[in-house]
Amino acid sequence: MTQDDPRRRIPRTDALMAALADLVPRHGVEAVKAAVTDAQARARTAEIAPEDVETATRTTLAGRRPTSLRPLLNATGVVLHTNIGRAALSSAAREALITASGHVDVEFDLESGARARRGRGTLSALREAVPSAEDALAVNNGAAALVLATTALGVARGRPEVVMSRGEIVEIGDNFRLHELLESTGVTIVEVGTTNRTWARDYSSAITTRTGLVLKVHPSNFVVRGFTHGVDVGELASLLGGLRERGLDVPLLADIGSGLLRHEPLLPDEPDATSVLAAGADLVTASGDKLLGGPQAGLVLGRTDLVETMRRSPLARALRVDKLTFAALEATLRGGPTPTARALRADLAELRHRTETFAEALRDDGIETAVVPHDAAVGGGGAPGVVLPSVAIALPDHWGAALRAHGVVTHVTGGACLVDLRAVDPGDEQRLLDALRRVAHDDVLP
Ligand SMILES: *Cc1c(COP(=O)(O)O)cnc(C)c1O
Repeated sequence: MTQDDPRRRIPRTDALMAALADLVPRHGVEAVKAAVTDAQARARTAEIAPEDVETATRTTLAGRRPTSLRPLLNATGVVLHTNIGRAALSSAAREALITASGHVDVEFDLESGARARRGRGTLSALREAVPSAEDALAVNNGAAALVLATTALGVARGRPEVVMSRGEIVEIGDNFRLHELLESTGVTIVEVGTTNRTWARDYSSAITTRTGLVLKVHPSNFVVRGFTHGVDVGELASLLGGLRERGLDVPLLADIGSGLLRHEPLLPDEPDATSVLAAGADLVTASGDKLLGGPQAGLVLGRTDLVETMRRSPLARALRVDKLTFAALEATLRGGPTPTARALRADLAELRHRTETFAEALRDDGIETAVVPHDAAVGGGGAPGVVLPSVAIALPDHWGAALRAHGVVTHVTGGACLVDLRAVDPGDEQRLLDALRRVAHDDVLP
């Protein structure tokens, strides 16, 4: 190194760390030091000038994201896409998450300074949303709600048998079989009926003093057609009502899956909590992040004594939700239409108009596209067989991978990359347009 070697002008680490002290609270000292070392190395190879080391460090750190999770645009037409996080939260829910991220009165009474019921505001919102529910509870997810119910109401009460129809013993997610989950807690599943036909007498002959509950699971991801018969909640409730009069109280739990709280005319075959409770179910369990459009959670609604037994179960502590979930769930329940509801109910004519306008903007940019009919879907393992008539912008299929690199997930099928705006918030259209423009102008495309 000679006297005028520019490398002599590279600032020393301690000087840089002092100059960059303002970045330490956000990134931590280790990350700042690593970025400094990296920038110094780049200056040594003359990639950057010695005078630019500090700026280069700042640029590196500014591009550093606090989470490895990448924000995506859902242009698939699948409203609840399991692999990209199911429901997108409403703006009210997002705001609530920020509020709850500090210290909040999640389990604290400000007036008395004493401990209060955890998440009480959210649970009130749930009961207001479903007035026929005497009580409500929120746990980690739908699967947790089922585990808690079968453990607290079955195994813990010395009644370890859960009666289920064979036609409802199903796999609900990739390799996830509900009955196996329940059996892992010490429950014995008593299967009644056959795959395609189950009758009330099948249930009544299986119910004994060892029965903890009768579980009715909504077949949320498949349909059975043809020579079939099932026993609906109303019929099961009257059967169990008869047994109750004779001194055997076996609760009926309906797992509706989707989290619809009231009847949705667009999805006539999806059960909702209000109707199922009105039909006589003692308890309903559902997910928070499917059709309800909220955060991941498991909802339990129904009879006070049963909900209270579940709440007092030691397992409830392990399945409880945190303040962030309570906040987002309450905001979802009390706020305006969720992105899920808006995507589900989007009017086809408006969607077509929106898509045509969008396609025009692309053509103005020299991107040739066609607007084609598209079958959108509810997704998230819900409303099987329901097609939501939609439209999409058709692009060559290799755009699919290129768009993913820019955070846009599309429906790649039959040699085409289809961009469906149904589940894209209108406020995100500019982001989508920018991503499409970037791909169009990228050299990676042939
Ligand atoms: C989705 C689903 C579950 C599981 O709910 P998670 O919130 O995903 O744990 C249970 N039962 C049914 C019928 C479902 O559709």
